[in-house]
Amino acid sequence: MSQKILAINSGSSSLKFKLYELPDQTVLANGHVDRIGQRNSTFTFEIHGKQNVQAEAMKDHLAAIQAVVNGLLTSHVIEHKSEIVAVGHRISHGGRFYTHPVRIDAAVKAKIKELSVLSPLHNPVNLAGIEALEKILPEAQEVATFDTSFHATIPAKAYMYGLPYSYFEDHDIRRYGFHGPSHEYVTLKARELFGEQQTHRMITCHLGNGASLCAELDGKSVNSSMGFTPLAGLLMGTRSGDIDPEIIPFIEERFHLSSEDVRKVLNQDSGLLGLSGISNDVRDLSEAAHEGNSRAQLALDVYVHQIQQYIGAYTTDLDGLDTLVFTAGVGEHSAIVRQAVCAQLGYLGVKLDEAKNQANALSIEAPDSQVKVAVIPTDEESIIARDIIQVLGLN
Ligand code: ADP
Repeated sequence: MSQKILAINSGSSSLKFKLYELPDQTVLANGHVDRIGQRNSTFTFEIHGKQNVQAEAMKDHLAAIQAVVNGLLTSHVIEHKSEIVAVGHRISHGGRFYTHPVRIDAAVKAKIKELSVLSPLHNPVNLAGIEALEKILPEAQEVATFDTSFHATIPAKAYMYGLPYSYFEDHDIRRYGFHGPSHEYVTLKARELFGEQQTHRMITCHLGNGASLCAELDGKSVNSSMGFTPLAGLLMGTRSGDIDPEIIPFIEERFHLSSEDVRKVLNQDSGLLGLSGISNDVRDLSEAAHEGNSRAQLALDVYVHQIQQYIGAYTTDLDGLDTLVFTAGVGEHSAIVRQAVCAQLGYLGVKLDEAKNQANALSIEAPDSQVKVAVIPTDEESIIARDIIQVLGLN
């Protein structure tokens, strides 16, 4: 029986997975579990292009991973659990400790737990995924791919905050950057497709529920809009992104909020949802704006403006721009957002081909554009799979 590896990408209430067969890394199955912890959880998986959706309550990540493994067994993608020899997990925060993927052992788990202080919404969930896997597949080896690792090349001038130096020295308060596997995947893909010269100065825009921009020189991250945590930078689906820090004590005092309350406001009640009062989903907002809803239009305007501002700032880091990449849910599918962002980038020589943009084509710039504009579907799981193979020497 051939060896298989499983890439797990767990978020706070969702989990994506892909099962690969070695040595060719053929994708045997992929899918996602949504609304973990709620009564209406769904488990969607695709095998040989055939989609299967099951609805059942999954109270935690253990139940979700159990559903994934059961699904693989009952659909005969695997006949026995022992065929899965290794599992890779995407871990949010690696702090200053992990600039590369590592094999997971007790010490690594302890560090991930310790780093939960820096990523309270994500690291505990990631750890829950690891522990669930250990219960369900006790024989499988495990590897951690950190969201922060790709950004280990950001220089000090871009990762330091203007705070007392001891906060950095003694408490590791600095910019880290996130969405590493996604930025890395589209970077590798763009460099493969367009060559090194055309991708010398590149900005990758990961626009999903969470969103971040990354500035890259020769494929190496030199800046990220996310910071100490994934709350920083752009306004996102429900996250505020950057705000004047003085707003925090102000709302704490004005509304008698605890720091936990403020964290909820900034992470769950803000962003596109907070501004529009309608939805965190760009599809809903585009539709509502089209029907004349001014709050939906405002939310989209602010979102687009912030992306433009970061692109402007990053062209200074890069001293120009050769390629702009859009990825993740919004980046891959919203021609409206891409068009609106690029409409203000004429000064960089960015010019779109509107028909190609509407078609979500791989390359959407006009022939006379000075900058390549690409739409590259992300594949974080393939980076996790690559890391499993490299760290464990499985090839
Ligand atoms: P996550 O960050 O949870 O992985 P995704 O990358 O899947 O999220 O992005 C989810 C977001 O993508 C949705 O909230 C929605 O705003 C957006 N999206 C998905 N499809 C479309 C579409 N066809 N048009 C516009 N936006 C879309």
